Amino acid sequence: MAIADDAEIVVQAENISVVYPGHGATKAFKAVDDVSFEIRKGEVMGLVGESGSGKSTIGRAIMGLSPFTGQLKVYGKVLSELNNKERRNLRQRIGYVFQDPFGSFNPLLTLGEAIAEPMIVAGVGHHSGFWKKNLKEAMPRVEELLEMVQLPKDFASRFPHELSGGQRQRVGLARALALQPEFIIADEPTSALDVSVQKEVLKLFLDLQDELQFSCLFISHDLAVIDMVSDSISVLYHGEILEKGHGEQILTNPQHDYTKKLLASLPVPDPKIQRA
Ligand code: ADP
Ligand code: MG
Repeated sequence: MAIADDAEIVVQAENISVVYPGHGATKAFKAVDDVSFEIRKGEVMGLVGESGSGKSTIGRAIMGLSPFTGQLKVYGKVLSELNNKERRNLRQRIGYVFQDPFGSFNPLLTLGEAIAEPMIVAGVGHHSGFWKKNLKEAMPRVEELLEMVQLPKDFASRFPHELSGGQRQRVGLARALALQPEFIIADEPTSALDVSVQKEVLKLFLDLQDELQFSCLFISHDLAVIDMVSDSISVLYHGEILEKGHGEQILTNPQHDYTKKLLASLPVPDPKIQRA
């Protein structure tokens, strides 16, 4: 879907740099180097780059979880001007899908509890109206969310280890959507999955995005995945955005050798083209 150039800006990053401080023999490391971008209402911005290029660091900076220089605005608010409480409130308004839901789910909580957690933590008076005091109160919404991600309701009483990778990632999406965020960060949400399962989860993501129209920073090392879900693409290399544009621009007219290399690694259906 084409996003209008004058659509409301949901996330604006201006000249963001992140330096991890050194300690002992470890030198300080600039993981993100002067990165600027904006994500508009309803836009999925794909951020593609190899492992270690700084993708997750950018996601964490937007969540207010990594110190950065430059300016980040989320929902019109300048992050550096917020106090801790305001920053926490803002973080609750951002959905986050992790790469590895096995690692991010508490193995002792049922999936129902995992999905309900953001609603209970958000507490009284939360903007979304989906805050709940306890699991029982949250259960109708939990079941609604399970239905949205096409899982049976009785999954609410199961534990993370009882699910397949694809099912766990559906639960990860359900939890990220619990408070009806206008913006979500999906950090390599399908990278741990087999190709066929990956396709199903990506299709679900696209359907939900189409229905709910949330904005999204979609992070992946895989340009094929990024191409499938994104309205716009930013190519990250060693902490710098090399180029950005509409998907088609990047795929048909890449400006940088690194992007050309990423493109060359894509599977092409026609073996003749592949060989060329
Ligand atoms: P990506 O998500 O693209 O794989 P990351 O943002 O996780 O990349 O990491 C970017 C770089 O920053 C990597 O070289 C990584 O080793 C380094 N890094 C990430 N987190 C930390 C940290 N907490 N302390 C020091 N270095 C880090
Ligand atoms: Mg990462």
